[in-house]
Amino acid sequence: MSRLDNDFGLLGDAARAAMGRSHGLHVDGRAVETGRSYALTDPTSGAEFARAAEAGPAEVDAAVDAARRALAGAWGRLRPHERERRMLRLADLLEAHEREMSEIETLCSGRLLGNTAGVDVQYSAHVLRYMAGWATKLEGQTMRLSVPYIPDGDLRGYTFREPVGVVGAIVPWNVALGIAVWKIAPALAAGCTIVLKPAPQTPLSALRFAELALEAGIPEGVINIVTGSGAEVGELLVAHPGVAMVSFTGSTEVGRKIAGQAAAQFKKYSLELGGKSPVIVMEDADVDQVAQAAAWAIFGNHGQNCCAGSRLYVHRSIHDAVIEGVAAVARSIELSAPLQDGAVMGPVVSHAQQRRILSYVEGGLADGARLVTGGAAPDHPGAYVQPTVLDGARPGMAAVRDEIFGPVLMAAAFDTEQEVLALANQSRFGLGASVFTRDTDRIRRMTDGLEAGSVWINVHNALDVALPFGGWKDSGVGNDLGEAAVLGHTRLKASVQYHA
Ligand code: NAP
Ligand code: MG
Repeated sequence: MSRLDNDFGLLGDAARAAMGRSHGLHVDGRAVETGRSYALTDPTSGAEFARAAEAGPAEVDAAVDAARRALAGAWGRLRPHERERRMLRLADLLEAHEREMSEIETLCSGRLLGNTAGVDVQYSAHVLRYMAGWATKLEGQTMRLSVPYIPDGDLRGYTFREPVGVVGAIVPWNVALGIAVWKIAPALAAGCTIVLKPAPQTPLSALRFAELALEAGIPEGVINIVTGSGAEVGELLVAHPGVAMVSFTGSTEVGRKIAGQAAAQFKKYSLELGGKSPVIVMEDADVDQVAQAAAWAIFGNHGQNCCAGSRLYVHRSIHDAVIEGVAAVARSIELSAPLQDGAVMGPVVSHAQQRRILSYVEGGLADGARLVTGGAAPDHPGAYVQPTVLDGARPGMAAVRDEIFGPVLMAAAFDTEQEVLALANQSRFGLGASVFTRDTDRIRRMTDGLEAGSVWINVHNALDVALPFGGWKDSGVGNDLGEAAVLGHTRLKASVQYHA
């Protein structure tokens, strides 16, 4: 066995039991087979390891119907502190199933076990606990009113934050359970119910999560999972009149389409879309430290992060040293299957992604960028891509303009702060941006000047559950995480009381 092949012998019993069988939808608290299924494939080989059900119109209807009944019934009737208590229990259960959950996520996605355990399980438990606290803290306002055409009497006004209703959530594969929980947790805190469509490659963690939610005392129908393709199941969910809000994470192109469809029905929507996040290194930065940070800003999770630091701008005085440092990290990375001991970088999610990434590298070279390291795939059936650094990036290049969503860094030198601010902002995206410097005036100016929903100083991709996370420009509208995510799942009701 080569280091590039998965060693399934490392799996625990629970994850092994998920292999070699078909997985139904999760609707109204039950597993539902549909008679149609598709293959889940191992990114290290392309081989089928399990199957998942394909939902159709009848199953999407049933799921939305279950969610509506739970909203009006068992979930809607619970007091806020009961929602909180059950969400806290779910966080504990998720942690108790860390090994199973991280292993099934890794099987589907090819991501490292350390990453799926840390981000999809531990961070998700943290998100659930933070959001659980909001269930009891949603407040309205009270006021004395003066409606001019009701001259007498005593008028009092109140506002309530009510759950928006059934949330249709659609998520990608790159942090499958983690992003699903970013959608589910604030929806639950606000009192909503959910129908979630996972990415077709990574349905297993969401299905298992829905079972754990039942165990935690979250009633049937509150969290429903419908699996299948975006073109079919995703579209049905967005179009369904029983869905009050669409919460989406994915590409800008699909997000644009969803926004149009949701707006036409006056649904609420929250869209977390693509990015091409710049990492900016000023001349006073520590070269060794910043080379490590910049390398992992792009190579972490095999470059499959919405906030990946995919554009690197380094002040000319230290440019060569920083690029060499990043390239040294890249060269030190041994590609290996995620189910191999000590793996530091596995495959990307699919062969389609592998081909897309490599074609951007070819395009970048054809457009005049210089290959510093990587740029190829090993001769192996897995969807591997070498960690890659291209220097001499210019704004017009497709590899600089578009999100590649793989371990490919586009680097360039700059001379002045004004120049780099313009370069950084010369993108249709505005998700994240980081600046490495010790100069406090510069920190203030760059924080103000960067057009991005998150600006990080001397760190990249630091997402805290208490801070709103969202994109500017083509990176989306609305927020995951923080108070903003909970309020986003509410609608205001104004109430007037008249006392003669
Ligand atoms: P994608 O193609 O947009 O797909 C995302 C999800 O939407 C999948 O479940 C997909 O199913 C579904 N979908 C596709 N077409 C649809 C339609 N017409 N109606 C409803 N649903 C539809 O994105 P991806 O390529 O899988 O994921 C990578 C993208 O996600 C990147 O652009 C990345 O930046 C973005 N992302 C953003 C964030 C953030 O928070 N801003 C976080 C992570 C990832 P199918 O796969 O079957 O089409
Ligand atoms: Mg897609």
